[in-house]
Amino acid sequence: MLARTWTLAVVVIGLLGTGLLRVEIAGQAPDSRAERLRRETDNVALQNVAPFKVFDNLYYVGVGYVGSWLITTNQGLILIDTLEGAYKEHPIEGIRKLGFDPANIKYVILTHYHLDHTAGAARIQELPGVRLVMGDADWDALARVPNPNNERLPRRDVAVKEGDTVTVGTTTIKLHVLGGHTPATLGVDFTVYDGGKPYRAFMFGGAAPGPGRQAAEQFLASVNRIEQLQDGVQVRVVTHPWMDPQFWERVDRLASRKAGDPHPFVAPEVFRAWIAELKMTATARLDEARAKEAANPGSQR
Ligand SMILES: [Zn+2]
Repeated sequence: MLARTWTLAVVVIGLLGTGLLRVEIAGQAPDSRAERLRRETDNVALQNVAPFKVFDNLYYVGVGYVGSWLITTNQGLILIDTLEGAYKEHPIEGIRKLGFDPANIKYVILTHYHLDHTAGAARIQELPGVRLVMGDADWDALARVPNPNNERLPRRDVAVKEGDTVTVGTTTIKLHVLGGHTPATLGVDFTVYDGGKPYRAFMFGGAAPGPGRQAAEQFLASVNRIEQLQDGVQVRVVTHPWMDPQFWERVDRLASRKAGDPHPFVAPEVFRAWIAELKMTATARLDEARAKEAANPGSQR
């Protein structure tokens, strides 16, 4: 009952605060660990969660409010997203703690240009042989991004087009350009293994539309495209743990998992429900943007 009340309270606060449905935080009490990790971004002690293994070839090296993921291959490492501010060393330290060598990073995939995902990439770019990969239009956007904390930003490198792949050793990752959160947000489509058994994983790099009608239209088109290609997706990999209300529960279940237990991150129905929910959000946001535009014909976008 208490949890229900909180759910309602959080949704209502979300609605009041933004005028948008904040479904992704439903179910989290304000003082829960998940909600504190989402909100207390400056609480370094809280944010510095230890890195952990999720699949045979996928590890979490992010902090509490924003993710960074490590994919291991037979010939080197691939990192997805790189954090910001006080946390820029966190993925690198995590990689070391897990027993890998950051010098073996071959590619860094940046899901989109926002600084919480890209700022840490500047120093990783200094390592020899590392290529940074991001959507073409997001490299342009990064060059113009407001940078209030004067982060050193990565230099433009590999510009992704729809369907491009990243290959290291026997691992190939397919990239989709799914704009709307940013102009060229990436979708990362890859295989994870649990005790050798393969599962298709998908990471949608920006699961909320940016401001304005164009972004809302682009976002809806992207969600529709994910819907087309989601058959067979079994694992949702999130850019921010709070996008999955059960993320930390899954982590706990994984840690106490016994032989034969199902893998808590293998949940195809969760992925499909999420895409359906994003479609509703996108449609509502587009209606809102159109109504705003109709009421205010001068502000076209
Ligand atoms: Zn973002």
